[in-house]
Formats: sequence, C-alpha cells, structure tokens
Amino acid sequence: MRLLIMGPPGAGKGTQAAFIAEHFSIPAISTGDIFRANVSQGTPLGVEAKKYMDAGEYVPDEVTNRMVRDRIDEPDAERGFLLDGYPRTVAQVEELDGMIAFTGHRLDAVVVLTVDQDEIVQRLLQRAETEGRADDTEEVIRRRQEVYAEQTAPLIDVYRERGILVEVDGLGEVDEVTQRVFAALDTTPES
Ligand code: ADP
Repeated sequence: MRLLIMGPPGAGKGTQAAFIAEHFSIPAISTGDIFRANVSQGTPLGVEAKKYMDAGEYVPDEVTNRMVRDRIDEPDAERGFLLDGYPRTVAQVEELDGMIAFTGHRLDAVVVLTVDQDEIVQRLLQRAETEGRADDTEEVIRRRQEVYAEQTAPLIDVYRERGILVEVDGLGEVDEVTQRVFAALDTTPES
C-alpha cells in the first residue's frame, strides 16, 4: 500500500497518518518530523533545513527529494508507506513518481483532509502552546498557509485527474475523521 496524506498546515495530517499507517502496517513517513529530528540533533541537514522552516518556507527540493528517497529505500518501507508532507511541489510529484515507478509499484491513493481556515489557525495556535514548535507563531503560520496555497494546493488537481484522490472532511473529533478516512479508502476502486 502506497499512500499520501495531504492538507493545509494544521489539518491534522500527522495525527491521522499514525492511525492509517498502523491500520495498513506500513510506516508513516513525515518529512516535517524527519527535518525536526535533524534540527534537534544538529545534523548538517538540520542546520540547512532550519533556515527555511523557521521562516515558513519550503526546504529546497534537492534536499527534500534526497531525504525521502533514502527513507523509502529503508527495509521497513518495502511493502509500502504513507507519506505525510511530501510531495509538496510539482517537482516533488515528479520525483516521487520516478521513485515509485523504479520499484515497479504505483501510488494507491492520496488522502486530502479538508478543513475550515478559522479552525486551522485555532488548532495551530493551540499546538504552539502545547508543543512549542518554532514555526507555530502567527506570522510563520500565515506564511505556511500562503506557501501551501501557492505551491501545494495545485497538487490536489493533479491527483484528482489521476483518479486516486480521496477527499475527507477533516473537521470533527479525531476518531470521526479516522473513520471517514477508512470508509473513503475502502470505497476507492482498484485501478
Ligand atoms: P505543516 O504541515 O504543519 O506546515 P510539517 O511538519 O509537515 O508542517 O512541515 C514543517 C516544515 O518542514 C515546512 O514548513 C517546511 O519548511 C519543511 N518541509 C516539510 N516537508 C517538506 C517538503 N516536502 N518540501 C519542502 N519542505 C518541507
């Protein structure tokens, strides 16, 4: 099973990704989490990524693509994976297509969590209090939303045209959203 989860910052991707990955016994691979782990360990990758993350900008494609390629080459991803936070640009879509084609597999579905803008800001400011992420300040949140709208939202149409898009209402209790995701995935026709 090869899946993606998409949605604007604060849509609850990470939370849902964990449940979906467990359900299908595949690793949930979050590029944001990998970057943050590198930042906290002070690796060269972390030092490079931090400059962009703190400003709410995307890390350059070459850096991100290489990191994802290495990660999905790990043995635990051989049977599949759920990517959270990648691809985020049209160039990353093409890279991922190449990576998956190389292994003779295909992308099964792309889950998009749709949420209301006001709800998102509220969630992110709440998360800023509990998790203290460096990029959860109001100014950076706004920039992340802009970058998402410009660079990542168009990817939804790309996957819709391929017929693998699964849109799920991300508003409501965590459990409810998870159930909606599973229901939507089970009804996705095999192609
Ligand atoms: P969110 O979806 O809440 O904005 P993430 O944890 O997914 O947060 O990502 C945090 C930051 O990590 C992004 O703002 C960006 O700087 C960087 N990042 C994560 N994934 C990518 C990617 N695929 N391409 C470029 N930058 C990325």
